[in-house]
Amino acid sequence: MASFLESTTAFATKAIHAGQGSEHRSDTQVVPPLSLSSTHRWDAPGELRGHEYIRLGNPTRDALENALASLEDAKYAKTFPCGLAAAYCLMSFCNPGDHILAADCMYGGVRKQLSLVHKSKHSIELDFADFKYVDEFKRLLKPNTKMVWIESPSNPKLEIVDIQTIVATTKEFNKNIVVCIDSTFASSYFQKPLNLGVDAVMHSMTKYLNGHSDVLMGCVMTNDEKIEEHLKFSQDVMGIVPSTFDCYMANRSLKTLPLRMEKHMENALAIAQFLESHPAVESVSYPALPSHPQHDVYKKQMTGMSGMIAFFLKGKLKNIKEFLGHLKIITLAESLGGCESLIEVPLVMTQRITSEEDLIRMGITVNLVRISVGVEDVKDLIADLEQALSAMTRAQK
Ligand SMILES: *Cc1c(COP(=O)(O)O)cnc(C)c1O
Repeated sequence: MASFLESTTAFATKAIHAGQGSEHRSDTQVVPPLSLSSTHRWDAPGELRGHEYIRLGNPTRDALENALASLEDAKYAKTFPCGLAAAYCLMSFCNPGDHILAADCMYGGVRKQLSLVHKSKHSIELDFADFKYVDEFKRLLKPNTKMVWIESPSNPKLEIVDIQTIVATTKEFNKNIVVCIDSTFASSYFQKPLNLGVDAVMHSMTKYLNGHSDVLMGCVMTNDEKIEEHLKFSQDVMGIVPSTFDCYMANRSLKTLPLRMEKHMENALAIAQFLESHPAVESVSYPALPSHPQHDVYKKQMTGMSGMIAFFLKGKLKNIKEFLGHLKIITLAESLGGCESLIEVPLVMTQRITSEEDLIRMGITVNLVRISVGVEDVKDLIADLEQALSAMTRAQK
């Protein structure tokens, strides 16, 4: 069984069996147990059979990390208490004086960490660029550039970065530069950045990988031994590790990742098309729609798209509030990737920590709305949007 499993590349089979190790354990439980013991018995001083102390690793975390590595086609996976902690550990691979070149359009929390922690406290040189424009990107690579940070699809506007082009341009300049990606919006199901030449992939598992809005966790996957060593150091020496219970929950969630992602996409595509044809909607950004400006790049590097849609409404904050106030199923809340549909206004919610200057440059205006389409019945979701948009339009007259 072990050898057959090692040879399969089918995602759905790996999501359920990879790393679970039931064939290796002496007990007969099909599901890896929640192992809460903080320490393990030694046979004699210096003689240890398996695990030692919980910070250094435990059976539940191992099962999850092995599954994550398999799903991302990676040799190594490490888990962290949240997505921001995963980003922190990966970025701290850089030393004072090194330069990080990061994508302009990205998750506000990672942007804030880059500026307030890596730049201000760790003396990292930092630049942002719009990675859609390769010449601008190339101009900002420097002799001390150590890391390039991509986010694709990006938050909150669902822009797509051409991963292979960025990797090729970077490596041509200096093959030692580490290219990283925050792949949270794609999940491991729809995008395999390591196969496109990226050195390390980060996810906020709080989103699609766990997918039930009840766990806070992050992970990094890589094939690079030096990065893996650094991440292990972050766990063992810096103590940045997730809770075992959260590992158990996330491991359980991974088994339905393919089912959930297919449904997220099916629902989101129908909703994006509905929004695109609605008179109260100015424009829609969903990479799987032919109208998306980077639709060709999307088709080249992703096998599908998650449930994330951004759209601009015709109206001011007052009108947007009217629309949101009438929604009955879709919930006004931050976060994404769960079974339930969530909606938010980035300017006054998730991006409120971003400076006004940055918001203007990125085109994040008050009428930009972001939906995380869940896995409810899509007819109900469209009906909910339709009645709320009608209510908004009525009030505008
Ligand atoms: C949520 C999110 C993060 C941060 O993850 P946490 O688990 O909340 O720390 C980073 N990047 C993206 C794209 C996210 O959506």
